[in-house]
Amino acid sequence: MSKRDYYEVLGVGNNASQDEIKKSYRKLSKKYHPDINKAADAADKFKEVKEAYETLSDDQKRAHYDQFGHTDPNQGFGGGAGAGFGGFEDIFNSFFGGGGRRRDPNAPQQGADLQYTMTLSFEDAVFGKETEVEIPREETCNTCDGSGAKPGTHPETCSHCQGKGQLNVEQDTPFGRIVNRRVCHYCEGTGKQIKNKCTTCGGKGKVKKRRKINVKIPAGIDDGQQLRVPGQGEPGVNGGPTGDLYVVFHVKSHDFFERDGDDIYCEMPIHFPQATLGDEIQVPTLHGKVKLKIPAGTQTGTRFRLKGKGVPNVRGYGQGDQHIIVKVVTPTKLSEKQKSLLREFADLSGGIPDEQNHSIFDKVKRAFKGE
Ligand SMILES: [Zn+2]
Ligand SMILES: [Zn+2]
Repeated sequence: MSKRDYYEVLGVGNNASQDEIKKSYRKLSKKYHPDINKAADAADKFKEVKEAYETLSDDQKRAHYDQFGHTDPNQGFGGGAGAGFGGFEDIFNSFFGGGGRRRDPNAPQQGADLQYTMTLSFEDAVFGKETEVEIPREETCNTCDGSGAKPGTHPETCSHCQGKGQLNVEQDTPFGRIVNRRVCHYCEGTGKQIKNKCTTCGGKGKVKKRRKINVKIPAGIDDGQQLRVPGQGEPGVNGGPTGDLYVVFHVKSHDFFERDGDDIYCEMPIHFPQATLGDEIQVPTLHGKVKLKIPAGTQTGTRFRLKGKGVPNVRGYGQGDQHIIVKVVTPTKLSEKQKSLLREFADLSGGIPDEQNHSIFDKVKRAFKGE
């Protein structure tokens, strides 16, 4: 079977840049990856794309290919198949979230992310604060620098799996010989064997520690939001980067204030005479007391807005408002004098509502007539 031209395979021109080659490779290898594409020829296409990329992404191999065409690309370049080609694992992992089954146990791996739930008071969420959290986590062993081997010694490549971390287990069945891939139990899939174990960590390369981490809670954080603290997760493997810490916030509710995003809501009780005659009252806000003018004839349920008295936006886009919903309270305990004054008031009103309330009482009247 004659091989297709590598440029044709990747769908790029003969003078394509490395960027174009890489881009096309990413696209095609994703398209034909056997984990994704279930077509019968997907695996072959995937192999073809990979081979084309291995040659064209290497300037030396590409020059050789441009000059001589399809010959053994490894000839004269030293190393076996795949040697010197470090890009594939990286690209592969970036596609599939690092969960590939073919992962090399010796490749650097990022440490796991950690999650921590922090309960905050209403005010702390509004204003933010700096605090410390204590996180139990694994840390790289200082004695062996994470290798797991006694200082002065080194871990060796596992002789059972040759460092692959996996073993082929052959089994004879009535249908023929079956080969199963299993995690190498000699090295537990790490591909390494440690003859002289570090006594501090027992060969694990990691130790459990409780560590205090400084966390800056931004003003305006809300219930359910999370903060990423980079580099405070579990340590990486084989020199890989440390994972991140995610602090998830749970914000307690408040007796008086209610929060909706950056806005604060509260209900303010006022007396009937205040609502009727008007008054100036004091309203609590998160930023201290504020005077509020209640105009004469204020109805229950009327909403007032105090601009900028809400919560600072967590991303720094200004500040929310405070909304005050006025509730007119009906008195329940009255002295004889109060009662007689109110009766007099009712007589003077003659049961006729004033103009502002006319339409509401009118509706009620019409509803009675419609019966
Ligand atoms: Zn150690
Ligand atoms: Zn092994």
